[in-house]
Amino acid sequence: MKGTILVTGGLGFIGSHFVRHALGRWQECRVVNLDKLTYAANPENLADLEGEPRYTLVRCDIADREAVERVFCDFAPELVVNFAAESHVDRSILDAQPFVRTNVQGTHTLLEAARAHPVARFLQISTDEVYGDIPFGAPPAEEDAPLRPSSPYSATKAAADLLCLAYARTYRIPVVIARPCNNYGPNQFPEKLIPLMIRNALAGEILPVYGDGEQVRDWIYVEEAAEAIGLVLERGQIGAVYNVSAGDERRNREVVELLCRIIAAEIGADPSELRSRIRSVPDR
Ligand code: NAD
Repeated sequence: MKGTILVTGGLGFIGSHFVRHALGRWQECRVVNLDKLTYAANPENLADLEGEPRYTLVRCDIADREAVERVFCDFAPELVVNFAAESHVDRSILDAQPFVRTNVQGTHTLLEAARAHPVARFLQISTDEVYGDIPFGAPPAEEDAPLRPSSPYSATKAAADLLCLAYARTYRIPVVIARPCNNYGPNQFPEKLIPLMIRNALAGEILPVYGDGEQVRDWIYVEEAAEAIGLVLERGQIGAVYNVSAGDERRNREVVELLCRIIAAEIGADPSELRSRIRSVPDR
């Protein structure tokens, strides 16, 4: 692939891995990283790219129409990959407004910019949470499964998907949608399950698990997700949806117990002492 890839939210967790992956995979591409630098952004994630001629960081809000328009005029991207989002379910339950603004209005702003400045691909990064809860052992949701989001976060992601598909149909915007499952790996903000447990375990604090911890999640290593997203960008069919999943389903409690074993082995602690700090807290 050649040309300019506009990556939004590239200072966040998955976006930062994708920026690095893209620069390595497509030597003739440059990456413009458009990020608002919210609390979830960490410039350190890509600090080593400073001075890299094929990489530019632009501080910009995807919901700011004029600013986005300027970016499209200045950089004329051929490809758009939209990672930018408010992404923490708990925060969406406390206040959904920033989620509606960034995840829905922001996606709309990008789609409008892509209407005015045609692109070869518009890859929307969605989530498997748009399918709702899947019971343990049930077959994974297919891409055409009904959307049953159960949090304000996943509802805004589902809304963005539907807008993208409508823009593909109505205005022939070359939209492709990727729906990754839960990612884990370096650079994740420590409010999310795995980094939070690691932090609390090392700090001697309790390990809070929602309800009975029976909630099931499918987990993928973030570098593998970035690679799969690259594949979808390269080969995905316009108008299609692709689940990005590892088929590695685990109950939350099982994940936390596994972390206790790994951390105990790493620091020479007693795994049962770590496990004794697991506490059930009211489910959100
Ligand atoms: P993150 O919260 O770590 O990072 C989000 C990034 O987007 C940050 O750098 C932030 O500054 C930026 N951002 C937020 N609002 C913005 C705005 N209005 N304008 C421009 N930039 C803005 O997110 P993440 O966990 O890396 O998730 C990235 C994408 O992948 C999201 O769309 C999320 O819904 C999706 N996703 C994440 C997971 C996961 O396990 N983390 C799983 C499935 C899907």
